[in-house]
Amino acid sequence: MDNAKQIFERLLAWYRASHRALPWREDRDPYHVWLSEVMLQQTRVETVKTYYARFLQAFPTIASLAAAPTEACEKLWEGLGYYRRVRNLQKGARQVMDEHGGVFPQTYDEILSLCGVGDYTAGAIASICFGLPTPAVDGNVERVYARLFAEQPTRKQIAEKLRPLYAQGNCGELTQALMELGAVVCVPNGAPHCELCPLADICKARAQDAIALFPRRKPKKPNPVEEKTVFLLTCGDRIALRKRTDQGLLAGLWELPNVEGFLTVEQMLRQAERWGVHPLAPQKIVQAQHVFTHRTWRMQCCFLTCAAAPDDFVWATAAELDDTYALPTAFRKLLSM
Ligand code: SF4
Repeated sequence: MDNAKQIFERLLAWYRASHRALPWREDRDPYHVWLSEVMLQQTRVETVKTYYARFLQAFPTIASLAAAPTEACEKLWEGLGYYRRVRNLQKGARQVMDEHGGVFPQTYDEILSLCGVGDYTAGAIASICFGLPTPAVDGNVERVYARLFAEQPTRKQIAEKLRPLYAQGNCGELTQALMELGAVVCVPNGAPHCELCPLADICKARAQDAIALFPRRKPKKPNPVEEKTVFLLTCGDRIALRKRTDQGLLAGLWELPNVEGFLTVEQMLRQAERWGVHPLAPQKIVQAQHVFTHRTWRMQCCFLTCAAAPDDFVWATAAELDDTYALPTAFRKLLSM
């Protein structure tokens, strides 16, 4: 990169003048940066703000996160999805306590060895919190790079190509400037705001009128559709829940009892009898859909009043559903239908 100094100076001047004030930018505490980066994977900034504040209120330190029951962490994650993120975060917090004496590690390799931390997050924490010259290439940075140079290397290659920028110093601000440019100017959806871009006059894709070609997108595979019959079983003022298995989608979280496929009303009642809940007539059956990243659930939900509450299920009150049990959005949205 022959114009590294020029790019670096313009990026930093732009970032200092116009970046968004975000709660996780108020300090350089590695726990704060780590938590925000994990939450921001797959989730919008506006949504993360609320979750971030609540999570830190409950677990203000890595030690408190490490010591918490996992279910309490999952409950605070409810609605964010991708629950493996919070479980890994907690495992990483326990590593910090057990393997690093409670002090957040300060080298790239040690940060990378924390559970759930990949190249990008390690690069972000190491540069932002400890000023190390470790590029962090996420989708935003990849897009900026691809357009700026009208080429499409891999993320690993981009990290290498960005090293001359990091050699200029101010590594934390540089990481944040690159991310910010991708998030608010060289945006992922719709046309980029090139008129606001500090690099517009040296952007190759812009000069070649080829912005739409970068980054190249892989063709999307169609999402497989799974059909399910879900049961909202009520006994008195309680609703039946059960735990999902420890493997696969939404592993280990709570769910409403369900079976694969669409059952007829007769089959639903037979299924409920098999569970021993002594069902009365169904109150209603509603249709719903939930789209995950790699699959779609098409659900019919049967609302059944029951005369028995067998121990195979946990029977939760409305208050317990609010305060205790992490019920994924796919199921929770059925409660209000
Ligand atoms: S000029 Fe436009 S396309 Fe090029 S990096 Fe800036 S915002 Fe992106």
